[in-house]
Amino acid sequence: MFQTIKENMHPKLRAFISLIYIIVTIHYSYSQQQSNTDSILPFGQLNNYNIERYLSEYIKFASVSGEEKKAGEWLKNICKNSGLHIQQMGNKDAQYNFTASLYPLSSKLPNIVFLNHIDVVPAGDLSKWKYPPYSGKITDTEIWGRGSWDNKGNAIMQLFSLVEIMNKYKGQQLPYNVTFLAVSCEETQCRGGAEYVIENYLDLLNPAVVIGEGPPAIKGALQTRPDTAVFPISVAHKRALWLKLTLKINTSAHGSVTPLRYANREMVKALDNLLGKHQKAVYTDLNIKMLKDIGQLEKGLTGFAMRHPKIFRMFITPQLRKQPELFSVFSNTITLTSLESNNDVVNVIPSEVTALLDCRLLPEANKDKFLANLKKRLDNDDIEVSTIYSMPKMKSSDDKSIFYKNLKTAISKTYPENDVITILLPNTSDAGVFRAKGIATYTTVPISLDMSYLDNIHSENERIPRGVLHKGKETYTNFIEECITENKEKEKKKFLIFNLNDKSKDN
Ligand SMILES: [Zn+2]
Repeated sequence: MFQTIKENMHPKLRAFISLIYIIVTIHYSYSQQQSNTDSILPFGQLNNYNIERYLSEYIKFASVSGEEKKAGEWLKNICKNSGLHIQQMGNKDAQYNFTASLYPLSSKLPNIVFLNHIDVVPAGDLSKWKYPPYSGKITDTEIWGRGSWDNKGNAIMQLFSLVEIMNKYKGQQLPYNVTFLAVSCEETQCRGGAEYVIENYLDLLNPAVVIGEGPPAIKGALQTRPDTAVFPISVAHKRALWLKLTLKINTSAHGSVTPLRYANREMVKALDNLLGKHQKAVYTDLNIKMLKDIGQLEKGLTGFAMRHPKIFRMFITPQLRKQPELFSVFSNTITLTSLESNNDVVNVIPSEVTALLDCRLLPEANKDKFLANLKKRLDNDDIEVSTIYSMPKMKSSDDKSIFYKNLKTAISKTYPENDVITILLPNTSDAGVFRAKGIATYTTVPISLDMSYLDNIHSENERIPRGVLHKGKETYTNFIEECITENKEKEKKKFLIFNLNDKSKDN
């Protein structure tokens, strides 16, 4: 019918209507296209211009440990719609994990794995937040919200880097697979996160190296050059040994007559024996190397002493003790975290008292020796010492490996004015479960942060400065590129040697 009306029209009017029709059709198909892309990738293809908007959007999910699925689904769809290969590794809250890779995991290529976690710690006191914790507010200078640093900011940098590599090498066969691995409940270390992935998918994942969350570069770490930021790469962490001490002494229960021995008093005496003295400083290959690394960067006498820690041990140890964060990586620490006798009646003597000790052992420490020494220092055989949790002993990751070298080079390329040091961390993250399997695992977040931002991690007003994400992303991209180039050169060398051998046989 429309056709007959059109045929009977004045030619000019007909042309005008046709023109409108064309404009409407073009606009309609364009807006269709737009809305299709929008629904697939909310801010379009992943690039430097929208990296902060993607982080802001990710922050808007209140993915507190155990409630990861919604945020995880959103993130997975971004990965999938960017063209990455997805593998689900647990599909419910507290066990929501997935990988997004350059090639399907079934390709079994040695895999460069970027590890991150979807969960965040609770927001804390809402009234203390300047902007709501799940607003993802972007101001002129900062991106605000729970997870902006830990660990969503890092995940976004890893993902954008991976997509950049995918677009650059489309259609080419690379020597490595590169995988983004997002897991649940790192913060609570529940069993459905990294541990579940390792138990069920380690073979499929086939990691050659794992890059996980670690410290950023911070200014102020160097005494003689406080304005220079240093980038730390962690190759090891201390292992937790959690102990429960129990002492039972049956005495008259009335406080009016003081018995010669009673549980509370004997426990306090024993704990004083244990905690009253300084914990011994322990120098190992790794922490000596860390001192020497820092010594290379320090000026004057400080630098000289640090480069020769064995000779200057007497002077260095008291300095280290003044900084508990630093001393913690030069000692096996013991911290009394609870003392309990289940009694709040003032004139009753309880017959049982328990104490909880959070001990952290250096990677090389011998647990049995440590326990024997602890019991000796308690000097009370009636105290029963039981282990609540003991992390397995594991090897530190090699700081001479090609992956370490490539990571260091990648950081230096992005930040030529800064230095990189090898460190040991007093605490652990999901990196620990990979290291326990003997997999080379390095942790760092390659961005430079002012010290003041660190106070807000796991606390109110977590935020990061604007403009740092693309630098972190660039570093990860540099790292992957270094690995690809290095492998190509290795293959070239092999080929040359093979040809030379072949020729010499012919001769
Ligand atoms: Zn974290």
